Parts: sequence; C-alpha cells; structure tokens
Amino acid sequence: MSELGTARMPLRVAIVGSGPSGFYAAEALIKAEPQIHVDMFDRLPTPFGLVRGGVAPDHPKIKSVTRVYDKIAGTPGFAFWGNVTVGRDVAIEELARFYDAIIFASGAETDNRLNIPGEDLKGSHTATEFVGWYNGHPDYRDREFDLSAEVAVVVGQGNVAMDVSRILAKTIDELKETDIADHALDALAESKVREIHLIGRRGPVQAKFTQPEIKEIGELSDCDPVLEPGALELDPSSQAELDDPDNKHSQKNIAVLQSFADRGAPVKNRRYHIHFLKSPREIRGESHVESLVLERNRLEGEPFRMKAVGTGEMEELACGLVFRSVGYRGVALQGVPFDEKRGVIPNIDGRVVAGSEVVPGWYVVGWIKRGPSGVIGTNKPDSQATAAALLDDIPKLKPCAHRDGVELMDLLRSRGVRFVSFADWQRIDDAEIERGKLKGKPREKFTRIQEMLDILDLK
Ligand SMILES: Cc1cc2nc3c(=O)[nH]c(=O)nc-3n(C[C@H](O)[C@H](O)[C@H](O)COP(=O)(O)OP(=O)(O)OC[C@H]3O[C@@H](n4cnc5c(N)ncnc54)[C@H](O)[C@@H]3O)c2cc1C
Repeated sequence: MSELGTARMPLRVAIVGSGPSGFYAAEALIKAEPQIHVDMFDRLPTPFGLVRGGVAPDHPKIKSVTRVYDKIAGTPGFAFWGNVTVGRDVAIEELARFYDAIIFASGAETDNRLNIPGEDLKGSHTATEFVGWYNGHPDYRDREFDLSAEVAVVVGQGNVAMDVSRILAKTIDELKETDIADHALDALAESKVREIHLIGRRGPVQAKFTQPEIKEIGELSDCDPVLEPGALELDPSSQAELDDPDNKHSQKNIAVLQSFADRGAPVKNRRYHIHFLKSPREIRGESHVESLVLERNRLEGEPFRMKAVGTGEMEELACGLVFRSVGYRGVALQGVPFDEKRGVIPNIDGRVVAGSEVVPGWYVVGWIKRGPSGVIGTNKPDSQATAAALLDDIPKLKPCAHRDGVELMDLLRSRGVRFVSFADWQRIDDAEIERGKLKGKPREKFTRIQEMLDILDLK
C-alpha cells in the first residue's frame, strides 16, 4: 500500500497555471485530509491569470477575488513558482520526476478565427490582443492600435466583446482611476473613435451578454446606445424563448434594450450601435481595414435551438478598426494530449486521457479542461471535482523519484530561469500599488517581465 499522502510521504502535486482554476484546485487539495504539498507554476512572474490580465480594469470589485487566492497561497504546503514556462523552461517529463500528480490549469490563451478574407489586414485585431494590451500583459505590451479611425467594430456579443467595446466607448475620466496600463491610457486619450459597432449573429433574445454589462452601456458619460429600427421585433420562436418564465437572462437583457430603443435621438459625442442578426463575411481594405462586409441572417429552428442562417443580403460598414471577439481557445502544451478541434486537453471527469487511456497522475481544470466558458466562480466546482478525482486516485499513483524542490530549483537555475516565489510577487505587488498611488490608481502595473525582476534585484 502506498504511503503517499501521509506525513512521512506528503503527496506532491504540481499545478500548471495560477488562474482561478489552479487556485481552486490547490484550495480543494490543501483542505483535504491527506498531507499535500502543492507547487503552482506560472509562465508570468505574476499570479492570477485572467483575473489580472483579462478582467476589465473598470471592474475592480471582480478583481478582489484575489484576496481569496492570497489566503490559499499563504497556507502551509503551498509554493508559487512564477516566471516558469512549463513545456519550455521545464519539460513535462522532467516535471513528472518531481511530482506524484500534475494538474494542468493553463487556460485558453488564444482566439478562434473568423476565417474570412481580410482577417489579417492591418487594423483587424483579436480581442485577446486588445485586452492584454490595456491590462498590461507583457505579451501584448508592445502591440499598437491605430485609434485614429472614427469607426470601430467589435465582432461578438459575449462579455469579452462588451469589455472591449466599453473601453473604446469610455472617456479618459472614466478610465484614469482604474488599473488600466498607462500606455493604453495615453493611447486612448488620443483616440478618435466615436462610433462603436457591436455585431451579433443571432437576435437580441439569444445575445450572450448579461444584463449588468449591457446596462452599463446606457450609463456611459459621453456615449449613447443606438439600436436599428425594428431591432427588437421578434420572430415567433424567439418570442417563445423570451416568454419562457425561466428565461430571466433574455428578459432582463430585452428590458434594457427596450429602454435604449425608447430613448430619444443620441446627443452625446460617441455612439454605441448594437447590431443583431449579422455575420461578418469579409474585411476589406488596400493595406488597412476600410470596411466590414456583413450578411444579414434569419433565425431557423425550435426555440432555444435556433441557428443563424445567412439570407444573402449584404451590407458594407465603413470602419478603420475591427476587433474579433468570437471565443478563446486553449494552446497545446508540449508532451500533453490535446484536442485540436476543441482546443482543450481531453479528459474524463478531469483525468487526462490519451486516446481512450487515462494518463496516470495527470489532471486538468478550468478553461483548458472544458473550453472558454463560465465566469470566475464557475471554476470552483469544476476544480473541486478534479481534485476529488485526484484524491480518489491516491492509492493508484506512482510516487515520483525526486521528493523535494531543491533539485528542481537547481535544474531551473542551471537553465538561467529566474523563478519568482509568492513573497517575491508580493514585493512586485507592493511596488505596483505604490506606483499607482502617485497617479490615483489602485496600481500601476509593470508591463515588462524584466521590470518585475529588476524590482527583485534578481539580475
Ligand atoms: C477578457 C476576459 C474578461 C473576463 N472577465 C470576467 C469577469 O469580469 N468576471 C468573471 O467572473 N469572469 C471573467 N472572465 C472569465 C474568467 O477570467 C475565467 O473564467 C477564468 O480566468 C478561467 O480560469 P483558468 O484558471 O482556467 O485560466 P486563466 O485565468 O487564463 O489562467 C491560466 C494561467 O495559466 C498560465 N499558463 C499558461 N500556459 C502556461 C505554461 N505553459 N506554463 C505555466 N503557466 C502557464 C497563464 O499565464 C495563466 O496565468 C473573463 C475572461 C476574459 C477572457
């Protein structure tokens, strides 16, 4: 019988990724009975995944969830290894020598494509790039967005599309006291964007955005929401969906949209146009985006199973910027099974599978497990379920050969990797907060990895 999970032989678990799903998995394991040591790796020196690099800067309350993660990080048996890219700085097979189990929590770091002509023209960007840029993610820090255009289009109607379009629609006064990165604030201060178009392929009843997000659009200081005439006229199946007493999501959204339709003519300097039943077919321009061709759709099918079908009726919307926000996708980790079609690590109830075989000791949580859906809280039960599977498997796990972190430290050091502990991160955090105070912001993020490491004198 294996001694794993006893005081003599604590279970050693590596978690790859320090976003919400990684932290909730760590919490579930540490709270469980057996003796467990959790090492959490992240490719950035900063923890928290999309809570730091995705959640919009003007939604600070949502970010306060990091206090829960701080507590988890402070528990005995937990260690953070920031600035370590698993699959590059240390191979999966190498990591497996130091841990009895590995949990992949690496999120969904790239975007789905529209697969239409002109998608790669200058001025056409993914939501990921723009979000990463305004949130100071080191990968996107040096991206450039030409905000000299008057018209910007955001394709998609999920909450990420709402974030992107709202940031474009806000004034500098509405943003300057947030933790938005300074380079983005400077660029947005010069923005000429006055018309923002949000494009959805289905109707207002099927729109994915949630009521708080759409309501905010009606509360912007210098931007009016605009609906096309007849935008809220519903086909019979959509009406049936709306009339379903359980469909509170759509009822709340429609109430807000109706209040927009009831407003008088726009009076503010910017306008936020909400389009339904349109799909992008082509982005046109010589060397830069000049217009977006949209096909009008109709809905077909039973209530709650309706599909958008092109009608062949086209319209061309002149614009200088296009942001594509049509879903995130996971990125394969070298040496780990990957479902190319779905962009996730294939698994059965959180146990990683290769073909039809479970890979012993490998688990998965969060967006890389189930795809990019759900809010931060959705990850908690999901991670708890995977942690429970791992705990059930303890008697079957093969103990790893190297049972302390010193050799792993030596290996990383020999490769010139400057790993960052949680205490190190707290020093970076303090420095960011200090910098922010000077500007009336909650923090001024460091946007280059070297700047973060310099704070730690880790030259
Ligand atoms: C733009 C945007 C805005 C959002 N806003 C909200 C919101 O307002 N409210 C809300 O509730 N939810 C929001 N969400 C959803 C929420 O962020 C996700 O549910 C959640 O972050 C998913 O958690 P995760 O741990 O699976 O992935 P992530 O949060 O993406 O964390 C993955 C982590 O893995 C790390 N990583 C990746 N590859 C490697 C590697 N090879 N080695 C080491 N580390 C690696 C990454 O650096 C990252 O830190 C938003 C999502 C997006 C995209």
